Amino acid sequence: MNSGLIGKIEKAKRYAQERNRIHVRGLRVDFDGENDRHEVSLEGETWRCSCDFFAGWGGCAHTMALERILEGMLPRSSLLPQPA
Ligand SMILES: [Zn+2]
Repeated sequence: MNSGLIGKIEKAKRYAQERNRIHVRGLRVDFDGENDRHEVSLEGETWRCSCDFFAGWGGCAHTMALERILEGMLPRSSLLPQPA
């Protein structure tokens, strides 16, 4: 394998561990919930979800799951208050 490519792969492995380098600004996800598929999006610092719970609360299990997956890579203000 090309030595330049090997170097890039090594750098990618290191970067993947250094989440503070990555700043997610937007996202579109089809999320398979227990009953339905939901459309979840993040634009800047604003989450949206097509589920009924989100409509009433401005957050839901789907957005909170994605916040956990993307921990360290989201703007702080997009995080919902979480129970301690
Ligand atoms: Zn939802």
